[in-house]
Amino acid sequence: MIKSWLESGVGRSSCAYPAPLVIRSPRLKTHRHIIIVALVGILAVRHMALAAPQNAPSINAFSGVSARTMRANLRFLASDEMRGRDTPSSELDLAAAWIASQFEQAGLEPGVKDSYFQVATFRDKSVRNVIGILPGSDPVLKNSYLLVSGHYDHVGVRGTEGDTIFNGANDNGSSIVAMIELAKCFANMKVRPKRTLVFMAFWGEEKGLQGAFYYGKNPVFPLANTVAMVNMEQLGRTDDTDGPQISRFAITGFDYTNLPATMSEAGRLAGVAVDKRPQGDPYFMASDNAALAAVGVPAHTVSVSYAFPDYHRATDHWDKIDYENMMKVTKAIGLGVFMLAEAKTTPKWNESNPKTKRYVEAWKKLQGG
Ligand SMILES: [Zn+2]
Repeated sequence: MIKSWLESGVGRSSCAYPAPLVIRSPRLKTHRHIIIVALVGILAVRHMALAAPQNAPSINAFSGVSARTMRANLRFLASDEMRGRDTPSSELDLAAAWIASQFEQAGLEPGVKDSYFQVATFRDKSVRNVIGILPGSDPVLKNSYLLVSGHYDHVGVRGTEGDTIFNGANDNGSSIVAMIELAKCFANMKVRPKRTLVFMAFWGEEKGLQGAFYYGKNPVFPLANTVAMVNMEQLGRTDDTDGPQISRFAITGFDYTNLPATMSEAGRLAGVAVDKRPQGDPYFMASDNAALAAVGVPAHTVSVSYAFPDYHRATDHWDKIDYENMMKVTKAIGLGVFMLAEAKTTPKWNESNPKTKRYVEAWKKLQGG
């Protein structure tokens, strides 16, 4: 249904251009002239097509999402050496530095002047949100911002007996390694999305969404121009206590805005179901999207599993993740983000839903109303 931008010719290598014809016979001089004029004409048309590219979002843009890379990255991020990435801790600092280096390697620009870090203080220690951006390609829409986020902290080390390290592989290392894959895919596009993408990894989610609330109070990009947030949580485990969750993900606050409709369309194109689950409304306030929703930004959390057997236990290990499924779901989320970043219209709160009252009020205040 949606035409791939690859099919449109944009992004083909210059090798695809026809080689210039060299005709030496004087008798064919006129013909040669005609051929050259025709070739110049063809190249000019091709050039115009390149100058005004159409960026139809396609799942093909996410073929680079690698299960193998996510596995290797999560094996590190959720290793015992990271000691559960508690807030604050030296291991949390190390995780932030690693995420920043991954953002840079992916091709993201620093989000905070020339730095990838938004520095805050928590319990007398320095803590950091990690922010990398991909500036939009549209001269006007690049001044609007779409946040793609997830928390990188977990709950640290607890107890004295047996395995005391709470590795936090699914919660929420899974979303961080998925975010890195998406950053790479978006940065590799020949034509970047129209709106500016802001990739954000938060500290302190497990301490009460502290990093996200800090951002909400100290936004790096104007909140009035922040069109939406897609926050990721627990993308890796399919063995949900409610039953297996294969080739599907859920969105919290499903009827709060029309953003889930866009994600559902992306899911349909990617062969991934997008669910409204019974816990979706109560869990709307249970992750970092709540901090942005509180200031009026249409913000949701996407998850594969809500409750899983090792939730907030020392056994939330990297080798229990379903990486193939996570790859499929990450591609679908990426396509949804791509569609949101290209859309002329922006997600809107559903004012007819009484549960959105406080968010609608915050949004109106944000818009100066
Ligand atoms: Zn979490």
